[in-house]
Amino acid sequence: MSMAAIPGQIRARKLLWKMVEGARVPHGLLFTGEAGIGKSRTARAFAQLLNCTEPRQGDSCDRCPSCRKIGSGQHPDLLWVKKDGTFIKIDQVRQIKERLKFRPFEARHRVVVVEGAHDLKEEAANAFLKILEEPPRQNVLILITMEPRMLLPTLVSRCCHIRFQPLEEDLIARALIEEEGVERNAALEAARLASGSLARARLLADPAVLAHHREIGDRLRALAGMSVLELFSLTARWAREAKSLDEDLECIKLWLRDMIHSRLRLGLSSSREGGPRSSTADPSDDLDDRLFRLFDRIEQAHQQLRLNANRQLVLEGVCLAMRKAFDGESHRCTV
Ligand SMILES: [Zn+2]
Repeated sequence: MSMAAIPGQIRARKLLWKMVEGARVPHGLLFTGEAGIGKSRTARAFAQLLNCTEPRQGDSCDRCPSCRKIGSGQHPDLLWVKKDGTFIKIDQVRQIKERLKFRPFEARHRVVVVEGAHDLKEEAANAFLKILEEPPRQNVLILITMEPRMLLPTLVSRCCHIRFQPLEEDLIARALIEEEGVERNAALEAARLASGSLARARLLADPAVLAHHREIGDRLRALAGMSVLELFSLTARWAREAKSLDEDLECIKLWLRDMIHSRLRLGLSSSREGGPRSSTADPSDDLDDRLFRLFDRIEQAHQQLRLNANRQLVLEGVCLAMRKAFDGESHRCTV
């Protein structure tokens, strides 16, 4: 895929184009932003651009042997690393180091992509840092993560940081309709719920996934009237039966984000986007503040889950926090 064919991400693409035009491509790049918004695709397109033998109008041709090999993942100088099991292992980093001792086989720039760089645990991250500190010529290292806070600060500071933005709803809906053949109404609903992520929208365009998403919404709405015992029983069953708790937590975040966005759209929000907050209002009693704090809380829980925390305890914490935030507000939670 050429850089021009990537949906959205105009700023990120411009920055990368400028680096190539000015022949100032840094050794270390860090791509951050939510899941499913085009970071990996851009990394691959950038690798094509760096190595295309017949570039056109400043972009890769998407046809020459180099472009085709990179596009299909067959190029010997494109190294793509992601977690093996739970983490990216130290051996995987050592293998990269070995390869980097030699010149690229055929590429002008060898490109090493570390997808899910937050999966580099301490030892592996330190080994990777050594590579970044003394990068051999003709190598570009791209770290991709949605959790830059989970990276070693020294890794982050060695890279040129490029932030990817959530995609606009109409862009997502159009991609679903034109590329995936999704029916218009389903595409619009999936795009609305996907919170800027095309990958998530693709999932939500599947009626079974959408039904699961709605079911989780029902469970969350029911929390407000539940006793603690009922809540524990719900979370025990949920943790036991969930196919992917990671996805369910993603669903909870989407549900909450949708609620926050709806309040902003309907003008129910008191101050986040616009007018001054009433000076007499007690911020601790403001639903918007509670929703934003709750979102942070769930985000933290999600990180804990990714770090292998106990599933049921994580879910209990999330549901208790939601129940507390919605206490007495169930009639207002209309999303
Ligand atoms: Zn090409």
